[in-house]
Amino acid sequence: MLLRLRKGSAERQRHAVLALADELGYRRRFLDHAETLLELVGRGAPEHRSRFEDLAAVAEVLDAGDARERHERGDRDDTVVTAGDARFGGGDLSIIAGPCAVEDVDRLLEIARAVKARGATLLRGGAFKPRTSPYSFQGLGRPGLERLARVRAEVGLGVVTEVLETREVEHVAEVADMIQIGARSMASTPLLLEVGRTGKPVLLKRGFGATVRELLMAAEFVLSTGNEQIVLCERGVRGFDRVTRNLLDVGAVAHLKRATHLPVIVDPSHAAGRADLVRSVARAGLAAGADGLIVEVHPHPEEAHSDGAQAISVAELGHVVEDARALAALDGKHLVRPERISLTA
Ligand code: PEP
Ligand code: MN
Repeated sequence: MLLRLRKGSAERQRHAVLALADELGYRRRFLDHAETLLELVGRGAPEHRSRFEDLAAVAEVLDAGDARERHERGDRDDTVVTAGDARFGGGDLSIIAGPCAVEDVDRLLEIARAVKARGATLLRGGAFKPRTSPYSFQGLGRPGLERLARVRAEVGLGVVTEVLETREVEHVAEVADMIQIGARSMASTPLLLEVGRTGKPVLLKRGFGATVRELLMAAEFVLSTGNEQIVLCERGVRGFDRVTRNLLDVGAVAHLKRATHLPVIVDPSHAAGRADLVRSVARAGLAAGADGLIVEVHPHPEEAHSDGAQAISVAELGHVVEDARALAALDGKHLVRPERISLTA
């Protein structure tokens, strides 16, 4: 590990750095006369980097050496995340689709059958919805979870659903094959830990004002519980223009594929905010290396309780899935299909 110490830091603060190095079992030596570059040789551990960064005299960790954080790619192969019939990573792509929010049960059944028939391997629907206004539809709550459970059993499709608060994690985990932590909750460390401890696969969405490092640190919280089943999701960051709801950060997708062993998917719906752009934005995300998509689909968007403007039709989902298959093949990857495609949809 290589640390750069702050020039002119107090002796007591410099001493704290050396003491920590000793405590962690590193051999140490300064590489320069000014004693600002400190080389540490020893056995690294994931928490060492942050422990040094927290010290006042440390300006920067220039090289973490083998003190790798748990999310880091290093020489690791892709982590493959599995939930229901879906597989993300290791050359496998999967599609998650469904309405923004869980609504009435017949509608949910209709959507679940339709998205499965088009090739989605997970159904996404929110029972707990994070909304900008307290006066907007907040989701059905626990009754929404019951509807998801029923549809999951009837259609034979795994479900992804969001949890907003720690006290609901247990209930959500009973139903969900994958637990979503949304953009607004990405920084909620108690939630990250509680969800991590369920051992269930986690869909972790990037906050719209979060850096890539912050997203990876959110993943690190989940990883610190021993749960490695994490799918990262780029859903667009806030831009200055209003033509799209957010800006899909395709550079971040390409970067993440190199920086971490965790799979990365793209949410073209919240990035575009407009149904007519979802297919193009989905293609862009896949071209950047995404391991799958999460797409909002609704047969009657004008009746949707939330995010109707960005919901695509079932037919359009079919096009998105065909694009995904073609783009995956270009990269020598494979789009996972549902096990048994429902013929009634
Ligand atoms: C959603 O997935 O419906 C949602 C609210 O997404 P995000 O957390 O990315 O805004
Ligand atoms: Mn939504």
